[in-house]
Amino acid sequence: MKFSWRVALLWTLPALVIGFFFWQGAFATAPADMTKNTASTRMTYGRFLEYLDANRVTSVDFYEGGRTAIVEAVDPSLDNRVQRVRVDLPSSAPELINKLKENNVNFDAHPVRNDGAIWGLLGNLIFPVLLITGLFFLFRRSSNLPGGPGQAMNFGKSKARFSMEAKTGVKFDDVAGIEEAKEELQEVVTFLKQPEKFTAVGARIPKGVLLVGPPGTGKTLLAKAIAGEAGVPFFSISGSEFVEMFVGVGASRVRDLFKKAKDNAPCIIFIDEIDAVGRQRGAGIGGGNDEREQTLNQLLTEMDGFEGNTGIIIIAATNRPDVLDAALLRPGRFDRQVTVDAPDIKGRLEVLQVHARNKKLDPSVSLETIARRTPGFTGADLANLLNEAAILTARRRKEGITLLEIDDAVDRVVAGMEGTPLVDGKSKRLIAYHEIGHAIVGTLLKDHDPVQKVTLIPRGQAQGLTWFTPNEEMGLVTRSQLRARITGALGGRAAEEVIFGRAEVTTGAGNDLQQVTGMARQMVTRFGMSDLGPVSLESQQGEVFLGRDWTTRSEYSDSIASRIDSQIRIIVDECYENAKKIMRDHREVCDRLVDLLIEKETIDGEEFRQIVAEYAEVPDKSQFVPQL
Ligand code: ADP
Ligand code: ZN
Repeated sequence: MKFSWRVALLWTLPALVIGFFFWQGAFATAPADMTKNTASTRMTYGRFLEYLDANRVTSVDFYEGGRTAIVEAVDPSLDNRVQRVRVDLPSSAPELINKLKENNVNFDAHPVRNDGAIWGLLGNLIFPVLLITGLFFLFRRSSNLPGGPGQAMNFGKSKARFSMEAKTGVKFDDVAGIEEAKEELQEVVTFLKQPEKFTAVGARIPKGVLLVGPPGTGKTLLAKAIAGEAGVPFFSISGSEFVEMFVGVGASRVRDLFKKAKDNAPCIIFIDEIDAVGRQRGAGIGGGNDEREQTLNQLLTEMDGFEGNTGIIIIAATNRPDVLDAALLRPGRFDRQVTVDAPDIKGRLEVLQVHARNKKLDPSVSLETIARRTPGFTGADLANLLNEAAILTARRRKEGITLLEIDDAVDRVVAGMEGTPLVDGKSKRLIAYHEIGHAIVGTLLKDHDPVQKVTLIPRGQAQGLTWFTPNEEMGLVTRSQLRARITGALGGRAAEEVIFGRAEVTTGAGNDLQQVTGMARQMVTRFGMSDLGPVSLESQQGEVFLGRDWTTRSEYSDSIASRIDSQIRIIVDECYENAKKIMRDHREVCDRLVDLLIEKETIDGEEFRQIVAEYAEVPDKSQFVPQL
């Protein structure tokens, strides 16, 4: 049998405890001196007084503050032998002293001796101490069991919620399409590799870099690439990991993280979603979050605590720099901000090239076409897109990814999963008219983005879809372009009303109308594109949930509000009339396109334009085609 000293100890514990109890009992109740002058016999107080009266008492020693006495008396019945007896005295016997004096008896008082008290005290303490020790060992034992109660005792210690990669293996080459950010951060690599270059001329090496950009643009990847290029370890934690249920846990995690990092310097600390901890203090509704504030304070303290030359560089990522606490952005903390935006068409092409490296593409596929088709896609979206296409290719048992799979994957990423096809019937016809309505209005308006394709295949929430190719490189959008978009979005409803009559319009336009109203409102309140004049009536930040500015939303009076509403109405009405006019004027081509769409389910933008061109003049939209 294996011997465990803890088990042995546990068995001896009760024995020890009981032993001490008895030992303590023996010491604590009897005065120590009395154990020396043992008086085996006892005498009653009355008998003692008789002895006293009979002059047989020779000396009296008081103990315990006068409650007991050891009495020496002569016993006539035993040949006047001196006898020592113990007498318990009544608490109030002041006359006894006078009596002793009268009878010339030797008396003395003995104070309670201290060593007795100490032993008593120790005796009293030993039991709880032993008990606690015993409990401690019990806890230690059970904490070895998985999920034992021991875990409750060390929740304050971070259980390595951050992760560390000694070598990320990511290089700058793996990050594409965000050249400016890469250039800025190239310097950080040099800081880590050759700090002396900077310190020699007295430059202070920055401690923190804030990467600002929407999710999926490659901020984590960029931070890893810095670590990879510099060949230093990469510590990462998400801001939301800091904020836990128990107050103080976040702060202790920060401490642990920095301690670990200091042991491994030079290194990179990456904090994702720093806004989770770094929001403005005291900005939350109903007071701040103590835990978050403590964590933030700890983070600030740690950042101030190390010198710039220790070789630790903290990279934080956020999508909301506007809600960050100003203290975080002060010099010596995150004093550098690098914007990481969704890539433009050139950037998308580069990202696609990076991610196509390990994929088998059919030679017919041109990455440029994909880049053109994917405005607004982030690096993560593009990586995901190519992966979806590869999965589809495998499912279709093809040799390599073709444009077909890419197209399907794009549709899927943008609009969701393909639904069950519509059955032929009146409702399919109505949906066809609705989509053709969007497409025709969009094609005939000079300022509208060109149609990319029209389909009747349901996807996500939509039963049919008209895809346009927005040119995001244009940057500025004109008033006529906005009006064209509103008119195009109303094209669906306009077709329903013109073809089927007012009573037959459907709920299918709900989403369109929401977009229309949003665009019209912005024209009035943000861009000064109405009769209200060039005024901005709404803060451009939008809502910041629990952040700054959440109360200051509308900056106008009720009368302005009603004027805004009427301006929105005017814009929408005008555009709607225009859309209906286009539908009425092009009824013939509309009917033909609807028949074609019901037959083919999808009409490509080029084909669509050719058919329309047979009936009307199609404006040239080459300005919308993004250039590489
Ligand atoms: P973020 O941290 O900004 O949310 P990530 O860095 O986590 O984004 O990006 C997720 C994935 O998307 C990366 O692992 C990478 O595969 C891909 N990705 C994102 N941006 C890029 C880019 N600029 N170049 C190459 N790949 C990218
Ligand atoms: Zn619609």
